[in-house]
Amino acid sequence: MSDSYDDQNIFAKILRGEIPSFKVYEDDETYCFMDIMPRTEGHCLVIPKTPCRNMLDATPEQLAACMRTVNIVANAAKTAFDADGVTLFQFNEAAGGQEVFHLHFHIHPRHEGITIRPPGTMGDMDVIKANADRIIAALP
Ligand code: AMP
Repeated sequence: MSDSYDDQNIFAKILRGEIPSFKVYEDDETYCFMDIMPRTEGHCLVIPKTPCRNMLDATPEQLAACMRTVNIVANAAKTAFDADGVTLFQFNEAAGGQEVFHLHFHIHPRHEGITIRPPGTMGDMDVIKANADRIIAALP
């Protein structure tokens, strides 16, 4: 069923601690961690801790909680990478570009004249860890 939540999705496994992630930030309602196929330096993801597939079935509370965390982490990432701006991506269902069916917001620090890389290339884990630490150091 395209509209049901599968609790075996990879982000649900990350939330349960069944697979590792590079944590950047969390509060009671949300979790932020690094994307392991980063399309920009500092590419990270914000997810709700409670289940929903995407923006289409999310509650106002889940969306509000995610946006609070996006605001906090996006500012920290902009500072950490001395970025000129920040791009958010958020995809809904396969036709909308979604591959992992647990709501998530991509945060991309952006620099003038530098394009976002294509998807699908695994990053260097040491670099990703170092980038997580840079964002963490810039958190309020
Ligand atoms: P999408 O559903 O199209 O927004 O894409 C899912 C995103 O999750 C992609 O950017 C992947 O690189 C990322 N991703 C997939 N598996 C993991 C993982 N285990 N840890 C961190 N990010 C992941």
